[in-house]
Amino acid sequence: MLVLEARDRVGGRVEQVAALDGGRPIQLGGELVGPVHTAYLGLVDELELSLEPTYTAVPGETTYDLLEGVFRADGFPFAGEVELADYARVQELFVELAQSVDPADPWSHPEARKLDDASIGVWARSVGALPSTVRALEVGSLSLAAGSAERTSLLSELRKAAIAPDPSFDAYYEHWESLQVAEGSAEVALRMAAELGERIRLGEEVRSVEVGAGGCTIAAVSRERFEAEVVVCALPVSVLGNLRIEGADPARLASLRRQRHAHAAKLVTVYERSVWADLGANGLSEGEHLLASTWPQRDGVLSGLVPPERVAWLLATAEDERESVLHEELRRMYGDAAAAPLATYLRLWATDPFTRGYVTHWWPGDVLRVGPLHGTHVPPFYVCGSDQWVAGYMEGAVRTGRAAAASALGAKDSEWVHAR
Ligand SMILES: Cc1cc2nc3c(=O)[nH]c(=O)nc-3n(C[C@H](O)[C@H](O)[C@H](O)COP(=O)(O)OP(=O)(O)OC[C@H]3O[C@@H](n4cnc5c(N)ncnc54)[C@H](O)[C@@H]3O)c2cc1C
Repeated sequence: MLVLEARDRVGGRVEQVAALDGGRPIQLGGELVGPVHTAYLGLVDELELSLEPTYTAVPGETTYDLLEGVFRADGFPFAGEVELADYARVQELFVELAQSVDPADPWSHPEARKLDDASIGVWARSVGALPSTVRALEVGSLSLAAGSAERTSLLSELRKAAIAPDPSFDAYYEHWESLQVAEGSAEVALRMAAELGERIRLGEEVRSVEVGAGGCTIAAVSRERFEAEVVVCALPVSVLGNLRIEGADPARLASLRRQRHAHAAKLVTVYERSVWADLGANGLSEGEHLLASTWPQRDGVLSGLVPPERVAWLLATAEDERESVLHEELRRMYGDAAAAPLATYLRLWATDPFTRGYVTHWWPGDVLRVGPLHGTHVPPFYVCGSDQWVAGYMEGAVRTGRAAAASALGAKDSEWVHAR
């Protein structure tokens, strides 16, 4: 077994650096998990890493950096009771619908086409949602940086929500983001890489894959060629879409190439302490400017996301101006101290050549366009990675990676194998 890795490090979209004080690991990519991430939690246990609570346990009020100004509240600052009640009503309808979707097989839903063609925004208006509810949904959607509620398939969101015991918007963060690896999430990949040792080749960018009945040939940019009995392709779909792949099942390949990524950037600022707490804030924010969200990563470490709808604005800003523009947003939300961090990391995953995005994003119609071949393999060409699961969390990489490895080791026939 040989792992070919294009970068000079392992971990891919999970990357960490040590803070200036050497103690706190700083997460520049994947960071948070939750109790629904059972495969990931199992791996953390196997690797003898520890878990700790996340921002969901931090006291204080959430900050809303809206176009009208900054508000601090325990929930979206609706104008009044009527707006709040409307949001609760729409949420109930969403939960009811999510309970009718099988996350492993959303295509079998009797109204799959209708649910997929509708965006969350279109659906919300179709059930009479008030503009304030649609706005709260949009702000919430962009805070996860996966794309606008107006451009996200309702079926894809129902499929994702159906994973959790309580699919409501309010329960989301507890189910999906309330745990983190205390040693830093990149430690998961680092420990596995230590076990693999020389079976990982760093700096080996794959250029093409030829799949044949008797085996596969992989060509690298370095001009080296590798012969293999089977190939397990763990590339982000946005990278895979531009790779030359010959001989793989055409239907499977076409489905893979229909997937797309949201493009995002992550900001991390480091302070001596959690300066936002001085204002009674918990560091969690949702915003309508460049930063769609912030959250406290660790004591004195703040994460933030610039979502796809706004990455273009960030890229339009001169490179040496970008950090100060983002610092100004932090000043507006959390005061002067927040605009003067000890260190700032701005990671443009959207333009990273080995990610070209952030996580899978499903436009209206995409669940059916990609179809039920999503997350399947045709030996000897196996596919895994978070893009092959219901949502782009680290759970998907572990879950589909394990399933692909088990299939590749066990099944040598040419039947369809499910990775989900
Ligand atoms: C900013 C950000 C925040 C995130 N936050 C969270 C979070 O809080 N919680 C969570 O669970 N998930 C989060 N995610 C998502 C999570 O990090 C990913 O879903 C997960 O790490 C993907 O794992 P993967 O193995 O599928 O893909 P990747 O981690 O992208 O791995 C693919 C590997 O392929 C390599 N590669 C690419 N091209 C080639 C080539 N041509 N040849 C050889 N190798 C190549 C890459 O270098 C990389 O190592 C976040 C992601 C980002 C970017």
